[in-house]
Amino acid sequence: MKKIVVIGAGIGGLSCAAQLAKKGFDVTVLEKNARVGGRLSGFSAEGYTFDAGPTLLLMPWVLDDFFRRVGMRREDFLPIVPVDPVSRVHFARGQPALDLSSDVAKMAANIAAFSPHDSERYSAYLQKSGQYYDAALHAFLQANVHRLSDFVKPSVVSAFLKVGLSGSYWDHVCTYFDDPRLRAAFSFQSIYVGASPRDIPAAYGLIQYVEATQGAWAVPGGLNRIASAMERAAVHCGAKVLTGKKVREIRLEGKKTVGVDLSDGTFMAADLVVSNADLPYSYAHLLPEKSSPVQTRTLEPSCSAFMLYLGVKRKLPIGPHTFLLPQDFLAGLDAIFKNRTLPEDPGIYLNCPSKLFPEMAPKNGDALYVLVPVPNLQAGIDWKKERLAFRKRVLDKINAWLLLGLKDADVAFERIVTPEDWRDQYSLEWGSTFGLAPTLAQSAFFRPQNRDPSIRNLYFVGGSTHPGSGIPIVLFSANNVVERITHENPT
Ligand SMILES: Cc1cc2nc3c(=O)[nH]c(=O)nc-3n(C[C@H](O)[C@H](O)[C@H](O)COP(=O)(O)OP(=O)(O)OC[C@H]3O[C@@H](n4cnc5c(N)ncnc54)[C@H](O)[C@@H]3O)c2cc1C
Repeated sequence: MKKIVVIGAGIGGLSCAAQLAKKGFDVTVLEKNARVGGRLSGFSAEGYTFDAGPTLLLMPWVLDDFFRRVGMRREDFLPIVPVDPVSRVHFARGQPALDLSSDVAKMAANIAAFSPHDSERYSAYLQKSGQYYDAALHAFLQANVHRLSDFVKPSVVSAFLKVGLSGSYWDHVCTYFDDPRLRAAFSFQSIYVGASPRDIPAAYGLIQYVEATQGAWAVPGGLNRIASAMERAAVHCGAKVLTGKKVREIRLEGKKTVGVDLSDGTFMAADLVVSNADLPYSYAHLLPEKSSPVQTRTLEPSCSAFMLYLGVKRKLPIGPHTFLLPQDFLAGLDAIFKNRTLPEDPGIYLNCPSKLFPEMAPKNGDALYVLVPVPNLQAGIDWKKERLAFRKRVLDKINAWLLLGLKDADVAFERIVTPEDWRDQYSLEWGSTFGLAPTLAQSAFFRPQNRDPSIRNLYFVGGSTHPGSGIPIVLFSANNVVERITHENPT
């Protein structure tokens, strides 16, 4: 039986482990943290429960497919609930907000309240975005495209031309909407993959498209429950999942890996290694510099995130998902992606999971998760110096726009997370919370593929590999890895 070591118990690692164990491989997962899930983990303190990262589950059918692949039914033990409206978007203090709904008729009416003229174009916009979605889904997301022969298939070339040469995501949105608020409301979703809508292909409009047509979903207890359920599935299939085990190095003999060295001094032999540790980190820290043609310094990282997790002692007058965009949306993007400074008027995402699931906070309290996109560590911001002043800037905006009147005395628990914490806790180079940026040069065929080009028994799964970042997309990444491993290494 071939022995596989998986480095990291993020969803990419857990999905590979479960599927490969089910296929008869001897699989061990080594996770450095105390809990599984990576960015999809969560924590509780003082009666408040938070997700560390993801809060919106899109394309839940991909998760269902994972459980089906390992002979289980997601609905038997992991409930999910639709959230509609998905979110409320604020554009300026005291001005009308827009509810983003996955009910197309309702959404058209909401848009009409801002601009009747733009509302008339909503269905054409969805139709075009749907074409991007279909092309990307079949040609890239669900497919391995690592050989030239995969890429030169007429269907793939045509899909690539369709999604790759169609201008930026921002251009796509501007073609259909004239109102600057609507342009912002339909393009800020690029931040879900850590990029400016002006820097990535129009095809990424598929993110907003799936939210607008398939909806967004929540999990009672938080999305982190997905990771725990996947760990259970992996163990059920026969994989060993070990936490508190940090891999120090992927050991090579010539052009082959023979296993991994752990920080505790032990060595674990393997026939194949799958690294779910983020790809730029894997190359920079787990492999010798000259072992690979992938040069981490030429890879472009996504932005980072500044986070506040607040246990609030009273109920807040907000919904589960709220966005406060920068009043000058493009200037806000420039601050992060061009000037690489802390935005004066930050874009803010608020998640209040206890609105949907009261058990996630003490009675009469609310759990409040605050995410602010910020430049990654390449910007050289001194977070030890800036963090408290930036916290104040963020809370001042929340209070001014939403009239929450949040004071320190209202806060029973607080955790601040900066890009340095993302780097240190989850092995994300430059603290880039969403992995490699999804630019055209780092998408589809051009994104680092799921096997090292020269070390033929070393595979990569996760957000910085093909096809990209986000829960469903990382699950596709795992399916691609499993397909390659089973094809290339029969048991
Ligand atoms: C703030 C934030 C919000 C997000 N929101 C959403 C959302 O709403 N919806 C959505 O779909 N996606 C969202 N995402 C993206 C999503 O979280 C990621 O794409 C996905 O979880 C990445 O999974 P992964 O398997 O690639 O890697 P990771 O989750 O990064 O897992 C990698 C694992 O490897 C471990 N590891 C690293 N180095 C070592 C080592 N040396 N030894 C052993 N173990 C190691 C890490 O500890 C980690 O557990 C969000 C991400 C962030 C950060």
